[in-house]
Amino acid sequence: MIKKCLLIITAVALLTACGQNNSAEKTTHSVETPTEARTEASTETMTNNKITEATTGTDREISTEASTQINPEETSQEDEITSEKISMESSWKYAEYSAIHSGSATLYRHKVNFWNGVTVCVNAGHGTKGGESVKTLCHPDGSPKVTGGTTSAGATKSYAISSGMSFPDGTSEAEATLSLAMLTKEKLLEAGYNVLMIREDEDVQLDNIARTVVANNMADCHIALHYDSTENDKGVFYMSVPDVNRYREMEPVKDHWKEHNTLGNAVIDGMKAEGINIFSDGDMEMDLTQTSFSTIPSIDLEVGDAGSDISEGTQMKLAEGVLKGLDKYFKKGAK
Ligand SMILES: [Zn+2]
Repeated sequence: MIKKCLLIITAVALLTACGQNNSAEKTTHSVETPTEARTEASTETMTNNKITEATTGTDREISTEASTQINPEETSQEDEITSEKISMESSWKYAEYSAIHSGSATLYRHKVNFWNGVTVCVNAGHGTKGGESVKTLCHPDGSPKVTGGTTSAGATKSYAISSGMSFPDGTSEAEATLSLAMLTKEKLLEAGYNVLMIREDEDVQLDNIARTVVANNMADCHIALHYDSTENDKGVFYMSVPDVNRYREMEPVKDHWKEHNTLGNAVIDGMKAEGINIFSDGDMEMDLTQTSFSTIPSIDLEVGDAGSDISEGTQMKLAEGVLKGLDKYFKKGAK
């Protein structure tokens, strides 16, 4: 797999070096390319945007080999998107804290190494039957929560995953986050991101810790999609890391809280660019299981509440806002 991955990178570097003017770094790649690889790469045929089932393992192949970002809009490379099922591995850090983890996520990956292979975890909030019948630790060190939320401040355990709220018309939060997640997936794939989808059906047997651990190991950032339980359509915000020393000094929050908040602010800026209504200044401090176990930039994004419109048109705008925010966070287009 690694050789194959390098071949694709090499092919992209070679072909884009021929077609574009900023070829200095790319030429370096071609110099290092064995003749055999060039031949294979140049004769390889890929199908544009075809999604194929891969039977590969779960080894992460986000590559640092290519030093130049490849913009999907500026390459004539034919692409192929593969998908593979990702189960939580028991050896992964914090895996033992999860109570529900028999399900699997799906990783969609471009063969062309766009944006140096950045993978975004899209986590459609809720949708795990039995999630409220078992509890998990709020923090890896067993310390109590510093804010309220679904579980009150001071608790050391919370539902493994809650069932979420409902809209006045009976639509569940899990249904609304799923439709938004599917739209977001398409938008991100079109823009050249790889996407790790936690849930693509009504139910996935992965609790909040399992979702977080899978994202930690297979993605470069983690965006969980939620709707709040208030009913006044108050606008979009993300759950920022509480300004409480005890929390910000606890691992893995200590090493990652700044990047969680930076990602959150970037996504809020993306929403603003789409003209979407923002709640307050775009964030609310919250001690979440997700944040407490995340080792990659990670946010819970509340895209609206029970009073919000959940039509496809509105959700398309939200998905576009997420894309714009990610482009800002990963500085897409920057050389
Ligand atoms: Zn929720």
